Amino acid sequence: LFVDSPLQKDARIALDRAQANYLLNVLRLKAGESVLVFNGQDGEWRAEVSVEGRKSADLVCMERVREQTGQPDLVYAFAPLKHARLDYMVQKAVEMGAGVLQPVITRHTQSTRVNLERMRANVIEAAEQCGILTIPEVREEENLERFLKGLEKDRVLVFCDEDAAVANPVEALAKLGNKPSGVAVIVGPEGGFTDQERALVAAHESCVRVSLGPRILRADTAAVAALAIVQSMLGD
Ligand code: SAM
Repeated sequence: LFVDSPLQKDARIALDRAQANYLLNVLRLKAGESVLVFNGQDGEWRAEVSVEGRKSADLVCMERVREQTGQPDLVYAFAPLKHARLDYMVQKAVEMGAGVLQPVITRHTQSTRVNLERMRANVIEAAEQCGILTIPEVREEENLERFLKGLEKDRVLVFCDEDAAVANPVEALAKLGNKPSGVAVIVGPEGGFTDQERALVAAHESCVRVSLGPRILRADTAAVAALAIVQSMLGD
């Protein structure tokens, strides 16, 4: 369970209504029973439930069970999709080990107003489900040009391009040799990148242009496929 308070021995953690409801009515925990909590900084702790009523509860921190782990240095950049598809993509990107989620606005992006709060809530839920202790960072949306300008020159940029002529990703990434220091993956919008945008992305110093196969994948499927291939190299 993600909690927004410092964790140390005997610290009391106040739960909000939704969290209390989840513990008391969904998991049906009783006073004195344990739950694992993390806050993104202090590792994972076993905490005991202290019930104050049927709708409210606190937790008391008992012992640290896992040291804090670091954030994978993997940026996932994507053109935001609409509603449920965006939720799905964000959730899968977290499960696949993205450490940073960067919405990028392109010419054909259909959903240019991104609900960052909803994205952050989704990221927390996904982090809870996959047992990571660091909450991936959700960045504000940027236009493509600015995103590329801000990217470190030596960060490998895996550019997913459905153009059939581009390289097989496994071979293209294998050519990079040793594990690179940082990787970013970029996937385009429902309508794809324009030719001008393709040229812009490909011009990034450390860009590797890859195909995910001969079929055009939905953007949310492309996210999972691309991150799986990158993780087969990074192993994070
Ligand atoms: N219209 C569909 C949708 O609504 O999601 C498909 C859109 S596809 C153009 C979206 C993005 O997924 C592309 O810009 C590209 O980054 C990535 N993509 C899809 N198929 C791909 C493939 N075979 N190889 C590489 N990238 C691919």
